[in-house]
Amino acid sequence: MGVRAGREVATLTQESAHSPALADVFLPGPVLLLGAPGVGKGTQAQLLMADYGIPQISTGDILRDNIARGTELGNAAKGLMAQGQLVPDQMVNNMVGARLEQPDVNRGYILDGYPRTLGQAEWLDSHLVSLEKAAGAVVLPLVAINIRVDEQVLLRRITGRRICAQCKHIYNVYSKPPKQEGICDFEGSPLQHRSDDTETAFTERMKAYNSLTAPVIEHYSRQGRFREVNGDRAVEEVTGTIEASLRQLRQAGV
Ligand code: AMP
Repeated sequence: MGVRAGREVATLTQESAHSPALADVFLPGPVLLLGAPGVGKGTQAQLLMADYGIPQISTGDILRDNIARGTELGNAAKGLMAQGQLVPDQMVNNMVGARLEQPDVNRGYILDGYPRTLGQAEWLDSHLVSLEKAAGAVVLPLVAINIRVDEQVLLRRITGRRICAQCKHIYNVYSKPPKQEGICDFEGSPLQHRSDDTETAFTERMKAYNSLTAPVIEHYSRQGRFREVNGDRAVEEVTGTIEASLRQLRQAGV
C-alpha cells in the first residue's frame, strides 16, 4: 500500500545517488497524465505501464466498469458521463483513495484523467501528504505531463475511436483500424464505441476541460513539476518524449 510505497521509493532514490548499478533503476513514482479528451492519455498510459511495470489508474475506466456492473456509483455517474459532464469530485476522490491502497502502486503509478478539477488536485495533494506522514518517509512527488493536440485533430480521434472491452486496446477507424472491421486483433472480440465519443459529447467535454481542467495544469506548472508534450506525432515518439521528460524531472530532484 501507499505506506510501503513511500519507503521503497525513498530508499531506492537515495541509494541510486551512490550506486552505478542502481542508478540504472528508474523509479517513475506518481505520474499524472493530463490533456483534453482524445489526446492519447489512455494509449500512452498503457505504454508507460508496460515500460515501467507500474499500474495505470484511469478514473474513466473505473467509472465505466462500475456502470457495466450496475453499481450505485455507476448508476450515479452514467447520465453525467453520457452528456460529457464531470462526475462530482468526492466520488472520484474516494475511488482514487481506495485504489491507492492497493500494493501494486509501490514503485509509482500513472493517473490517467485525474485530477480534472482544482478541487481534485488539492484533495490528492493533501491525501499524498497524509500517506507520506503515515509512512514516515519522503516519497517522490507527483509530476504532471500535459499532452497537447489541436482540437480539430481531437474530434477525428474521438469519433473514430474504438476500444476492445477485453484487453482495452485502442483502435481508430481512420488512422489505426483493426485487421477485421469491428473486431479486436488480439482478442477476436467485438470493439466498442464509447457512448460519449460523439461530436456533441466531445463539445461538452472540451468545455469542461477548458474551464475546469486548465487550472489543474496551472497548479502543477506553478510548482515546477510539469512538462508539456506535443501529442500530434507517432505514438512511440510521444512515449519517448514523455519518458525523457520524466527522467529530466526526476533527475532535477522533482
Ligand atoms: P475519460 O475516460 O478519462 O475520458 O473519462 C470519461 C468520463 O468519465 C468523463 O467525461 C467524466 O464524465 C468522467 N470522469 C473521468 N474521470 C473524471 C474525473 N477525474 N473527474 C470527474 N469526472 C471524471
